[in-house]
Amino acid sequence: MSRVLAAVAWPYANGPRHIGHVSGFGVPSDVFSRYMRMAGHDVLMVSGTDEHGTPIQVQADAEGVTPRELVDRYNRVIVEDLHGLGLSYDLFTRTTTGNHYQVVQELFSGLYDNGYIIAKTTLGAISPSTGRTLPDRYIEGTCPICGYDSARGDQCDNCGNQLDPDQLINPRSKINGETPEFVETEHFFLDLPAFAEQLNAWLDTREGWRPNVLKFSKNLIDDLQPRAITRDLEWGVPIPLEAWRERDDKRIYVWFDAVIGYLSASIEWARRTGDPEAWRQWWQDPQAEGFYFMGKDNIVFHSVIWPSILLGYSGPKPQALGALNLPTEVVSSEYLTMEGRKFSSSRRVVIYVRDFLERYDADALRYFIAVAGPESNDTDFTWSEFRRRNNDELVAGWGNLVNRSISMAAKNFGEIPAAGELTAEDTALLASVRAGYDGVGQLLAKHRQKAAITEAMRVVGEVNKYFSDQAPWKLKEDKARMGTVLHVALQAVRDCNTLLTPFLPHAAQRIHELLGGTGVHAPMPEIREVEDLDTGRTYPVLMGDYTVGAKWEHVEIVAGTKLEAPTPVFKKLDESIVEEELARLQG
Ligand SMILES: [Zn+2]
Repeated sequence: MSRVLAAVAWPYANGPRHIGHVSGFGVPSDVFSRYMRMAGHDVLMVSGTDEHGTPIQVQADAEGVTPRELVDRYNRVIVEDLHGLGLSYDLFTRTTTGNHYQVVQELFSGLYDNGYIIAKTTLGAISPSTGRTLPDRYIEGTCPICGYDSARGDQCDNCGNQLDPDQLINPRSKINGETPEFVETEHFFLDLPAFAEQLNAWLDTREGWRPNVLKFSKNLIDDLQPRAITRDLEWGVPIPLEAWRERDDKRIYVWFDAVIGYLSASIEWARRTGDPEAWRQWWQDPQAEGFYFMGKDNIVFHSVIWPSILLGYSGPKPQALGALNLPTEVVSSEYLTMEGRKFSSSRRVVIYVRDFLERYDADALRYFIAVAGPESNDTDFTWSEFRRRNNDELVAGWGNLVNRSISMAAKNFGEIPAAGELTAEDTALLASVRAGYDGVGQLLAKHRQKAAITEAMRVVGEVNKYFSDQAPWKLKEDKARMGTVLHVALQAVRDCNTLLTPFLPHAAQRIHELLGGTGVHAPMPEIREVEDLDTGRTYPVLMGDYTVGAKWEHVEIVAGTKLEAPTPVFKKLDESIVEEELARLQG
């Protein structure tokens, strides 16, 4: 057994999340964490909503609410959506907690103390008519990289590059259209070049990473520049230095605070469980492993910047929290598109998690993501493919096997029948299913979920073939043999259900119960309303007791267990849903 940190990218709280957001890292990190727990590891899975930064402030301004009101709304929406998907976070929190502020400020101070934060004079914008600072979000102009004419002072929404306001061509104030004046102002930068050698040496020791992630990361190190970690903005974590702490026009840059969330959420989890030091076992034990899940646009933060922060905080001078572990692996996914187009909320090329879950089961989406998601290639979500996978594979393959084996046993025996002498076919099938624990498990441990579920479904196909070949419905005259075939089939269903539990936890719990099982098979997260440990404000978190539930191992079914006629576990989707959904997309 080892300790495994599953650090999952933080969804940005400026709106509800769509299925593209949860396909790349939300669901895959849950599949991984569930498998690792079942295999006996001590998993700590943490994340939360990312709630600072210019886009939140801009949207709050547009809606006439405060940033806090905006993030309170979307934090709750996102918590509920992730709960609906069954994502088993040990803690899903947020970046506006007192605990997060303290941890971010501690890391900032530690890096500063160790000499890795440098002050630099840069050009900041002021309004000539008022003489006041113009925050980045109020400056618009043409992107110097792609030529987009409405790039913001901190970022171009067209090409995604981070910008400084003085880089914009023809900059103008969004408040009154005037041309801002640029004056010298001081900001803090993280001295990334100071870590280049250590980062290179560390990346050279990494094994098993997806090759594109490793290559991309090594290329980034070749031209590292100091990176700004403060911004002209009021909404964010205050800068914890004398003469800066009280300023209300400068804050820590959102990317710097969000990436520290993995650590602050682990500390909050520990504080909430009554053992405030418990987080150290995942962050300081050299045997502990840390896996970081994100989309490919965030690789740089996890394979270069976050490791630099960890290295810089850990030495040369020891800091209050002590030395911290570097990531074991950065698990990055590719992009999901929707019917051949990029997801876009403004153009209504989107399906939000909430709307999806109102019409379809969470496990139908989880299945699609596992078997056809953007694990190592950009992939396209289409409604016709979603329906085909659901109907032909989930319903006709797995659901049908569950249904026909349990209903035939229920009808003819009312219980799990005892097995008589086993034939060569019986023992061959059982051995093949048992081999699935190693086969599927090894793939899951290596983040090859597409191959893992394909292997699990191949085993399901073998059991279906056995069932058809043995044709127990033709054995009315030989009830003993009929009982043996059904016993073997139900045993195989029991094992296949375990193999599929990380992917399909809701269905797995039901199938466990249909087989006469009681208690928790696949533990689920709960939404708990908690008080901020430092400010007393209340907010919802996801937590859960995941120590219960099935293990990654064969369990013998017990002859004589009562069975009832099952109702279908998966829903077949009508052809009409494809047209309905496409009509919704086009608005
Ligand atoms: Zn651009």
